[in-house]
Amino acid sequence: MSSANLLKSCCIPDFLEIGTNRIPLVIRRNRRAKRIYLRYNPADHAFSLTLPQRTRVSDGVDFIHTKSDWISETLLQMPQKKNLKPGVVIPVLGEKTRIRHFPDMRSVFTLKDSELCLSGSREHLPRRIEDALKKIVRNEIAELAHFKAAQIGRKVNRITLRDTRSRWGSCSSERNIMFSWRLVFAPYEVLDYVVSHEIAHLRHMDHSQRFWETVEALCPEYHEWKDWLRIHGKELYRFSG
Ligand SMILES: [Zn+2]
Repeated sequence: MSSANLLKSCCIPDFLEIGTNRIPLVIRRNRRAKRIYLRYNPADHAFSLTLPQRTRVSDGVDFIHTKSDWISETLLQMPQKKNLKPGVVIPVLGEKTRIRHFPDMRSVFTLKDSELCLSGSREHLPRRIEDALKKIVRNEIAELAHFKAAQIGRKVNRITLRDTRSRWGSCSSERNIMFSWRLVFAPYEVLDYVVSHEIAHLRHMDHSQRFWETVEALCPEYHEWKDWLRIHGKELYRFSG
């Protein structure tokens, strides 16, 4: 295991240097914190250091040094980052899919036979791969959402996609539902569960027993896919343009 080399500095560094990686470090003051906390956030691929109001910055630096083994272990356990580029194989709704680039292809992108093919110049390709994946997941979500809403006699207003940090979906009282576009990297059944969850909120705006019964009616195996997200959710953040 490689040990964490931390920047020696009189103040808290903006980065942790671990091997060849520079990991962003975010510092927060928290009046209610009783002690110093160091946490890792996979969504941002950053560590956050929380300092109680009166704690000296130098104590924060000392604390980080005592945690170097934990920092190394945490990073080793993280799934490897994967860039979205031609040649790379990524999961698309549960199917292993190779990204390919055909500059002269007529359509913007196609998805078939386990290949995601994109046209156009190589410039901005990562961006366009992400756009294609968003379009793919949006179509699936829209189809699932309208179908499931009809099953419980409700209607969806607007569907939006975001790169969320703390939740995979949400539902507002105006019947607008929002999803993380990163669900495209999850198995199709997981998408089905997350959509079922938000659609069930069109009937119950809480997490009551009756809400979960509605989820189950829309997605009978939901327990399994809810667990999948809890265990594997962080892996959906490993892909980037
Ligand atoms: Zn909910």
